[in-house]
Amino acid sequence: NKPLAEVDPQIAQVLTDELGRQRDVLEMIASENFAPRAVLEAQGSVLTNKYAEGYPGRRYYGGCEYVDVAENLAIERAKELFGAEHANVQPHAGAQANVAVMTSFLNHGDKMMGMSLAHGGHLTHGMKLNFSGKSYDIAAYEVEKDDYRVDMDKLREQALAERPKMIVAGWSAYPRQLDFAAFRSIADEVGAIFWVDMAHFAGLVAAGLHPNPVPHADVVSSTVHKTLAGPRSGIILTKEEHKKKIDSAVFPGQQGGPLMHAIAGKAVALKIAGTEEFAERQRRTLEGAKILAERLTAADMKEHGVSVLTGGTDVHLVLVDLREAALDGRQGEDLLHEVGITVNRNSIPWDPRPPMVTSGLRIGTPALATRGFGAEEFTEVSDIIAETLKPNPNVEALQARVKKLADNFPLYEGLEDW
Ligand code: PLP
Repeated sequence: NKPLAEVDPQIAQVLTDELGRQRDVLEMIASENFAPRAVLEAQGSVLTNKYAEGYPGRRYYGGCEYVDVAENLAIERAKELFGAEHANVQPHAGAQANVAVMTSFLNHGDKMMGMSLAHGGHLTHGMKLNFSGKSYDIAAYEVEKDDYRVDMDKLREQALAERPKMIVAGWSAYPRQLDFAAFRSIADEVGAIFWVDMAHFAGLVAAGLHPNPVPHADVVSSTVHKTLAGPRSGIILTKEEHKKKIDSAVFPGQQGGPLMHAIAGKAVALKIAGTEEFAERQRRTLEGAKILAERLTAADMKEHGVSVLTGGTDVHLVLVDLREAALDGRQGEDLLHEVGITVNRNSIPWDPRPPMVTSGLRIGTPALATRGFGAEEFTEVSDIIAETLKPNPNVEALQARVKKLADNFPLYEGLEDW
């Protein structure tokens, strides 16, 4: 029962350093967030010891009476929060949830339509080196060249020509909402299963600030750690008729024992996601993204070749277009890192630069909203980003402005003593 610092000082140091980093920088990676103390407690608990293959009440191991309570709570809370008939809360991560969805509804070689990775889709929606791209015949759809949005008439034409067995709507880098009702009607017209991957925007859905895909889709997958701010993990929501298929695709289909500490953490996060405090945070998340988009589309940015794809955002992230700017994506990411703001470079559609360089940045507001940022602070951080992306930034002055914001919003106060 020796403490970590005694057993493994090197790893203890990693934890200390990472906590310091998270406190000192302004975290704007769109897929990241800060899990609350209650979630960290559930995850760092004795539940990590428990094997519980199977589902509540039907386990292949003894001693599951308490972990069953946790999993049932997570299931009931997920169903209630999103209005779903069934929830599977066992996927270890978003990618595992997606593998279970695909193996439930597709046979090897079947055709699936998903958004191209280069246009904002996720790896698991058909990228050629991923399980999805290797196992299925992928017909990728893209955004339009003039407005960088998905055109539903074109998507319908493509679906009629391709006749996919499944269509997935969802994204990792797309700043607008997708029309789930239109996807549903296209899927019905071609006899396809309609799957929504709401990994990025699930928190907005929970807060009623984004259309809920659950009433439209046959199956919805999500991560729990992005806008939802829970433990790193996945969930699947589906209709009662698909329950058996989904459950057996997760276990025994592709996973063994569920991570009961993560499932308990999911239950906690899903409880929090039903509160007014959580909804208020999601409102600040959206407000912050809008402020950022406005700042980066102002005349002084245009002058320096910086713009924002689609001209704005409806969600928690902004895609910055640096094709005409002095900096490429990697230089922009590095310079913002130097100033104290963490973002990720991101390919933009028809990017002339390779994926390791890119001509874009993906910048998100969920983590800073969790940290407490409101309109005033988002205005300041947007201005810092704008100044950093212009020629000859005064890095030292910008670092001082970042430090002031970070100091004003302490993170995980007293964590060392928890
Ligand atoms: N689906 C989407 C849309 C995502 O953006 C991501 C993660 O970035 C995933 C799935 C995969 O989640 P994980 O990294 O937990 O496997």
